[in-house]
Amino acid sequence: SDTATLQRGLPIPQGISKPAFLSAIDELRNLLGAKHVLLNDKEIKNGWYMESPNTHDMMPLFDSEEFIASAVVYPGSVDDVKIIVKWANKHLIPLFPISIGRNLGYGGSAPRVRGSVTIDLGRRMNRILDINADDFTCLVEPGVTFYALHEELVKRGLDDKMWIDTPDLGGGSVIGNTLDRGVGYTPYGDHWACHSGLEVVLPSVGEKGDVSVLRTGMGALGVGGENTWQCFPYGFGPYNDGIFSQSNFGIVTKMGMTLMPNPGGFESFMYTFANESDLAPLIEIIRPLRISNILENVAQLRHGLQTLSVKGHPRTKYFAGTGPMPDDVVRKHLRTTATGECAWVYYGMSYGPAHIRGHKLDIIDKEFHRIPGCKRIDPSTLPADEYFWSRDRIASGTPDLEELKWVNWMPNGSHIAFSPVSPIRGKDADNLFALARKRHAEAGIDLMPAFCVGLREMHLIVEIVFDAEDEEMKRKAEECLRGMIDDAAKLGYGEYRTHLALMDQVAGTYSWNDSALMKFNNTLKDAIDPNGILAPGRCGIWPERYRNRGWEL
Ligand code: ADP
Repeated sequence: SDTATLQRGLPIPQGISKPAFLSAIDELRNLLGAKHVLLNDKEIKNGWYMESPNTHDMMPLFDSEEFIASAVVYPGSVDDVKIIVKWANKHLIPLFPISIGRNLGYGGSAPRVRGSVTIDLGRRMNRILDINADDFTCLVEPGVTFYALHEELVKRGLDDKMWIDTPDLGGGSVIGNTLDRGVGYTPYGDHWACHSGLEVVLPSVGEKGDVSVLRTGMGALGVGGENTWQCFPYGFGPYNDGIFSQSNFGIVTKMGMTLMPNPGGFESFMYTFANESDLAPLIEIIRPLRISNILENVAQLRHGLQTLSVKGHPRTKYFAGTGPMPDDVVRKHLRTTATGECAWVYYGMSYGPAHIRGHKLDIIDKEFHRIPGCKRIDPSTLPADEYFWSRDRIASGTPDLEELKWVNWMPNGSHIAFSPVSPIRGKDADNLFALARKRHAEAGIDLMPAFCVGLREMHLIVEIVFDAEDEEMKRKAEECLRGMIDDAAKLGYGEYRTHLALMDQVAGTYSWNDSALMKFNNTLKDAIDPNGILAPGRCGIWPERYRNRGWEL
């Protein structure tokens, strides 16, 4: 069932007694209103993506009660957030801010430290503060999802004029995804690069009991900074925004984002490639096309197996054996699909009016056909429920949920990703594919790689789908992930993002010059958050009172 009683009781944070914790919670209830503070003392409830829990990771790699909140608090304003920060400093209770908490595959809504009090910013702070139809920008609060922003454009009749950029799944928060440096699939797919301006509540308390709120970039100007806040991200002096992404240095309460002008037409295309060995030559063809913007969006090159898994059926429909599904079985089933038998599928989109698209599409077609066995799939032959049309919606700024389907590959389907970054080179694609293949074979897990090609780099996303109720499978998944992270690091590849459980390991691979970068992050952490209350351990950054005390995983 989706609901279970807590086995380990109320997860009280380490370092505080139960009575002291409960009295601190009563104090917080008095400060914010009792209905805005919920104790997590009864059960674990999983739900599904759109009704995801805000207390724990519904796709746990370890025990569900390991990364779990003791309570959830729902601030309604920046002032409420300041009150929570002050309260946490007084009682030395760890806080974990989330916007929506649908960061599935990377820990969902779960805190890194068991018993943290989760600040669910999205529930009540969910206003779209501005959509500027002249500048093509917006200003949002944490609870604004990609769906909500898109629906607002539609409601205001602006969707014909401007687009949002959405990740594969549209239910997440624009702020949450951007702070975790997530990507989407239009030319505005690098969300972090497309944001402009943050408002941040800092985690410490000053001598007079004050909590600071700062605005970055042009928002820092004393008078009228908001005028250009969303138009120019840098302002004057050090560009500070970076330290608030993938970190635990502040709680973001507002963010500006650029919106994309409707390009005046769009057209998705799909190519298949026959052999796994086509990977390296194909990546070599993609690189110059991508850098020169003939390939205009963060396109995906997916393994054929994903075309099968995204149909949403369990793996057992195709294969009853154990271990990775054999290649000939994958190919046999692919033959019955609209995609046909292949090793790789490329999904892309061309933008602009027909005559401009035609020019680019001709070049792409000619270049891709240098690979023998390359096939262009004519979209007009594809039924409306084909996955291709989900990619079509996403790459043209319409949020979607189709991507959820491959989670059904396993019972109690959960997923966790290996996400290394490399240059767009055939050799690098081969290296990463080979090491992933080896570790997956050892673990007996199906390999589902997708290369997402940016402007100078590509992210390889390998999602491992596992049964959350199968301890042996979870152990193997962890072993496989940890092995791939280490193998990749030895070859000079690092992850762009990772799950809570793997953050220490991944942070540890960025160790150049005696871990100078982590030393700098620790210095910042101790200065900005001297009591160490904000998201301890997130992205491998531990406050002083936790550091080297056995918290690292
Ligand atoms: P989404 O639902 O969009 O996938 P989340 O809300 O789960 O994203 O956010 C992803 C991660 O980013 C969170 O686990 C948290 O560590 C961090 N985060 C999200 N929102 C904020 C915020 N407003 N301030 C600081 N950190 C945040």
